[in-house]
Amino acid sequence: MSKRDYYDVLGVGKDASKEEIKKAYRKLARKYHPDVNKEADSADKFKEAKEAYEVLSSEQKRGQYDQFGHSGPQGAGFGGGAQEFSGFGDIFDMFFGGGGRRRDPNAPQQGADLQYTMTLDFEEAIFGKETDITIPKEETCDTCSGSGAKPGTKVNTCSHCNGSGQLNMEQNTPFGRVVNKRVCHYCNGTGKIIPDKCSTCHGTGKVEKNKEIHLSIPAGIDEGQQIRVPGKGEAGVNGGPSGDLYVVIQIRPHEFFQREGDNIYCELPVTFVQAALGDEMEVPTVHGKVMLKISAGTQTGKTFRLKGKGAPNVRGYGQGDQHIKVRIITPTKLSDRQKELLREFNDIEGNKSIDEQEGSFFQRFKKAFKGE
Ligand SMILES: [Zn+2]
Ligand SMILES: [Zn+2]
Repeated sequence: MSKRDYYDVLGVGKDASKEEIKKAYRKLARKYHPDVNKEADSADKFKEAKEAYEVLSSEQKRGQYDQFGHSGPQGAGFGGGAQEFSGFGDIFDMFFGGGGRRRDPNAPQQGADLQYTMTLDFEEAIFGKETDITIPKEETCDTCSGSGAKPGTKVNTCSHCNGSGQLNMEQNTPFGRVVNKRVCHYCNGTGKIIPDKCSTCHGTGKVEKNKEIHLSIPAGIDEGQQIRVPGKGEAGVNGGPSGDLYVVIQIRPHEFFQREGDNIYCELPVTFVQAALGDEMEVPTVHGKVMLKISAGTQTGKTFRLKGKGAPNVRGYGQGDQHIKVRIITPTKLSDRQKELLREFNDIEGNKSIDEQEGSFFQRFKKAFKGE
């Protein structure tokens, strides 16, 4: 179907003023709004008018349209893709001061999105897993296929509101007659009367079921991230699509490891003898134990990096590292023999030279407090 000229769609001239365009659009919107017009092609005509109005009501877009036609500058095009059409209610409200006006109760509506919080172990988040979750969700009732009526019986259009779900309440006020729209209390705004209700769902057309859903948790997922499962939310209304399910991830803290993005951090306690003389130690990573070489003379706070021993990036961009921060543990329970050896250690020439080295931090520190 080739696109009609936007001016033709609205039935205005090329030199139409903003006011004329708005007026023409209002007229068409009233005529073709799916709430009032039940003809099959009314929705398409409404959309066509809306698109034409969106372009012609914007000075910038109108200028581009006049110059480039439907394709727009660089073939970018107007309407359609960029502006998703999101139901009819909003635009109607915007123009006609809806004030409590409800959507057509018979129009298809997307089901609500559901949220589910899932708590993973530290390692599960790093390696990902396949799992099944059970969530309670509303499903279309199988007995009545969602109509709410007992099989073999009919759903009637509410005669009080003619299926619109609303009643016009006329009121005389000092300012004249005012028409208010109210939710129809005969049908509770559904526009339908069900004489024989389905016994399974009691006329709601929906039943709550525990639904098992298979989930693939990607490796490297992090705290607070969400997994979207399309179409696994609540069932739609009047044949509308189901909503989506969002699984929000929480991660249980680990006893030794912390995670920041794709990197894993931990502390490694070492004795001052290991730190002074150097050592080779077995250290845990989520990928198994690895040997770590502590160089002689390691200070507390020094960090060693184990490349690639962190979490995989959840989007597939490589792998994080594990950072190991050394913490030197000062012994608290010493035997007499150990104390004797430490005193001897402290007295020997070589040890004294450590803090008496010219320019060393300890030297400068001492000087500062002696006022030298
Ligand atoms: Zn009604
Ligand atoms: Zn039912």
